[in-house]
Amino acid sequence: MRYYVLDRGDQLSVRLTESFHKMAAEQGLQLDAESPDIVVSIGGDGTMLHAFHTFINRIPSIAFVGIHTGHLGFYADWKADEIPELITMMSGHSDSGQLMPRIVRYPLVELEIQKKSGTNSYICLNEFTLKGVGGTVVAQVDINDELFEMFRGDGICVSTPSGSTAYNKSLGGAMIHPSIEALQITEIASINNRVFRTMGSALVLPKHHHVDIYSRKEQSLILTIDHINIPTDDLISVRCQVAKQKISFVRYRPFPFWNRVRNAFLD
Ligand code: NAP
Repeated sequence: MRYYVLDRGDQLSVRLTESFHKMAAEQGLQLDAESPDIVVSIGGDGTMLHAFHTFINRIPSIAFVGIHTGHLGFYADWKADEIPELITMMSGHSDSGQLMPRIVRYPLVELEIQKKSGTNSYICLNEFTLKGVGGTVVAQVDINDELFEMFRGDGICVSTPSGSTAYNKSLGGAMIHPSIEALQITEIASINNRVFRTMGSALVLPKHHHVDIYSRKEQSLILTIDHINIPTDDLISVRCQVAKQKISFVRYRPFPFWNRVRNAFLD
């Protein structure tokens, strides 16, 4: 079993990483920064976003597991004091009778961003957003190659099901169970009056649909892919659809989505 650890960089996470390596070596796990089987993120959900993008080119052959150092996360279910138990399970030495971990796979959103300066592809774990810098965004939204609406406002968010509990939730979007292969489009402060009109509701698109967002004026934009910001002055369009790839998480014990939602927002 080859593993790698990525931490948040704060004192506690760094210390936990050091002790993780020590315990892992004792259990015969092999540290491998190039081709790990499992990537462990120590910190919070934000740290998992970093881990995902660090290994973006190896997503099909990696499974992720998250340890949280603060509150229970959506991607991080292990507590710091449970690290010895996690390592025992990773090394297959557990006597709990549950040696075979479950792998759960969550949908992602893939993007093709077309600019005058070139075209690039990206994948998001949480969401893509397009936001204006110092002015109203004007964008045409097409669904499956047909005009849907002309958007005016602060921006547009396109999220994955697991990202639906993040920025999407703050925008009034629905929380979607990650077993549903879909993407969700939410508006960021759209202008709605007698002249300008948008749908105003979040839209959930199935796997086989796609949305194209066309920039409809010369405008300075910030495109975000999870925690990554890309300032852009020459956007032509962005195509978003449910990605062909999925992210895998190792589950050594159950971590039900609705329990996480309740813990995060109600408890
Ligand atoms: P950040 O601004 O430092 O943290 C954003 C917060 O979002 C953190 O509390 C983080 O949890 C939480 N989070 C991340 N993924 C989540 C998920 N799937 N479900 C529920 N909560 C989640 O930024 P960051 O750590 O670099 O994370 C980038 C993310 O921030 C973006 O992907 C976006 O979803 C989110 N964001 C939210 C808003 C908003 O709600 N208004 C605005 C901008 C960005 P941890 O503390 O466990 O890391």
